Formats: sequence, C-alpha cells, structure tokens
Amino acid sequence: MRAVTVTPGVPNSLRLVHDHPEPPAEEGAILVEALAVGICGTDHEIIAGDYGEAPPGASTLVLGHESLGRVLEDPGGTLQPGDLVAGIVRHPDPVPCPNCAIGEWDMCRNGRYTEHGIKELPGFARDRWRVQPRFAVGLDPALAPVGVLLEPTAVVAKAWDHIERIGARAEWQPQTVLVTGAGPIGLLAALLATQRGFSVHVLDRATTGPKPGLVRALGATYHTESVAQLDFDPDVIVECTGAPVVVLDAMCKAGPTGIICLTGVSSGGRRIDFDAGALNRELVLENHVVFGSVNANRRHWGLAAEALARADPAWLSSLITRRVPVEAYTEAYASTPDDIKVVLDFTA
Ligand code: BGC
Repeated sequence: MRAVTVTPGVPNSLRLVHDHPEPPAEEGAILVEALAVGICGTDHEIIAGDYGEAPPGASTLVLGHESLGRVLEDPGGTLQPGDLVAGIVRHPDPVPCPNCAIGEWDMCRNGRYTEHGIKELPGFARDRWRVQPRFAVGLDPALAPVGVLLEPTAVVAKAWDHIERIGARAEWQPQTVLVTGAGPIGLLAALLATQRGFSVHVLDRATTGPKPGLVRALGATYHTESVAQLDFDPDVIVECTGAPVVVLDAMCKAGPTGIICLTGVSSGGRRIDFDAGALNRELVLENHVVFGSVNANRRHWGLAAEALARADPAWLSSLITRRVPVEAYTEAYASTPDDIKVVLDFTA
C-alpha cells in the first residue's frame, strides 16, 4: 500500500512508497481506510529534518498526524464499518507519569509520550492504518468534508479548556479576545472564541488572500497593524504565530488579569533586546498568566467534534484551500502564499 515517509533528521527525504507493509495487528483492532490527511507546520519541520523521530529500530517515519478515515472493521463493535474516524495523535508514556496515568497525555511530565507521524509512532499518511478503540474518535457522517480538521480543532479546544480553567481562579468575565495569526490554528481558535460569544479580533500580516474574509465571516475583526498598535487591551490573547516579536508584544498587551495562551512553536535562535523587568512588573501588578499549550487529550477531541458540528460547514470547508491527490504529494507539501489548510486526498 501507499505511504508518505521521511527519514527523520535528513532534510528533504520525503517519499511516497508504494510497497509499504499493511498495518500490523498490534497497532490496534480497528482497521481504517484513509480518506484524508491534513498538513501543518510540524510536518514541514519534520521534512526539513528539524523535528520528528522514527519508531524504535526503524530509520523512516510515516508522516501524517491530522487524520480522517473510514472504518473497514472493528471486531469490538464500538464503531461500524463505514463510520468516519480520526486517530488521536499522542499516546501516553509507558511509565506512566501522573498525567498520562489518568488519560491527560497532553500534559505528559516525562517527555516519553509518543505521537503518530511525529514521534516514534507511524503516521496516518498511508492507505490503511489501525487504531486501538481508546485512541479512535468517531465522527458524525455530516462532517465528512471537514472531519480532517478535527485534530487542529482538538489542539485549540485544549487551549480554550485551559484558558477557562485559569480564568476560574477569580471572578472572570472576559469580553475581548485577540488571536495572533490567521493560519488554521488561529482561525479555529477564533471560531471557538466566537462560539463563546466573545468580541474577537484576529491579527495577521496578510492583506490579500482568504484570511481577511474568513475572519470577517466569523463576525470577528481583522487587523494587520502590530499587536502594540492595537487600541484595546484584550482579556484573552491566543498567540498562534510563534514569531518572537509577536509573542513578546502579546505578553505585554493583555488587559488586567489577562490570560495569554501561547500555541505557536518557535524555531529558536533569534535574540531580541527586551525590557524583561518592565514585563515582569506588568505581569505581577496585573495578575497576568502566560502559559503554553500543546496537543490534546481524548476529552478535548470530544469538545472539538462538538465545536465542528456547531460551526458553519461552508466556513469550515473554505479553510481547506487545496486537496491534493496522494500521488501528487510533493505539491501538497510545497506551501503557496494563499494556503490555509492543505489536505492529502487518499480517495483520488
Ligand atoms: C500537533 C500536536 C503535537 C505537536 C508537538 C502539533 O503539530 O498538532 O498534536 O503534540 O505538534 O509534536
């Protein structure tokens, strides 16, 4: 069968192999036929050789952590043949740490978690994959065209879950939310913010292309000025660029008792002359919280499925700017300026 593979650590080792072995039974009882795999910045980092680990004893890694498939067989009967399913990305560490032990693997304490298509577990960019029932998430058939967005939506559902838990430390009535970056994570974070009834602002550099329209279609306001130039102080900031200057500006911009959630992964290595003392003074005197958020546990995947079901299907569809047949995989992994979400299509 077909599989998209890389050799982690070796730049540009991306390949489409046609004789990849069928998924072994140990992978899980549920056999799935791949429909689609979404591509994100993490895949680009792995392809560049900067991130990713092959399974123990292997030199290559099957890519793909944003999955959508159709069940071929589930002997346990949790899912029926034909059901839509997505595979949860992260598996708990083997120790397990206190968080992994209770299913909160997104908060793993020892770093020994594994991730499909990223860290030591084969990804979903192959014609067929298997999954254990506890890592399989069934989707409503109506979500077929956009179900591949479930994984990035789970990531922002986790971010919002933690923002709300932090907010609950005191009386909290947030009104304005700023999302920095209008890529898939930023747009989905903005969607979840509008679903909560907040006044939502999204900031991005793009002045053309689909981003301004997608933001306005949510009923949110689109900004292209810098964070520092905004004429309001948001109650919540969801930072989705990982760009060092934007991250620092976001940390300095929140209103009193503001919560700043960082979701963008920076590459590191860039130094900035910065007044850390002034930032510290602001954080302390205004009770700010800055925190990082990554990945999602099973509960968040459920919240994400609910959020997608409540969203406008046409808006969700327009986040997928290109669907590329697997055979043309090199085009799928080459970014173009107007891309939001590019999806590898296994049905073509
Ligand atoms: C994925 C997460 C994963 C993270 C770090 C992201 O692209 O969406 O599930 O935990 O990369 O590997």
